[in-house]
Amino acid sequence: MLPSGLKIVDKEFLTIDWNDSTKSKIKLSNLRLNCPCALCATDRENRSDRYFPIFGNDELTVSNLKMIGNYAIGISWKDGHNTGIYEFGYLKKLSII
Ligand SMILES: [Zn+2]
Repeated sequence: MLPSGLKIVDKEFLTIDWNDSTKSKIKLSNLRLNCPCALCATDRENRSDRYFPIFGNDELTVSNLKMIGNYAIGISWKDGHNTGIYEFGYLKKLSII
């Protein structure tokens, strides 16, 4: 399974066309909230379940998407955060469709 198309829609969603004809649609705020990098993972562990971060515009704007090998997509955000590597299975799990 590989992405055949990546698109940012309405500045709010990332849509992915997979080469098995399935589609994923993920809210950017949800992507950012669940950033899998070590820094964000530690952050999530240290805060209470009731804490919900308020993101600024730059934190929710994707500046670059790149393929990482054959297993993941690396997302760079406009605020400079670029350590999140999202594995395909993880992206499918975050999808709302
Ligand atoms: Zn992160």
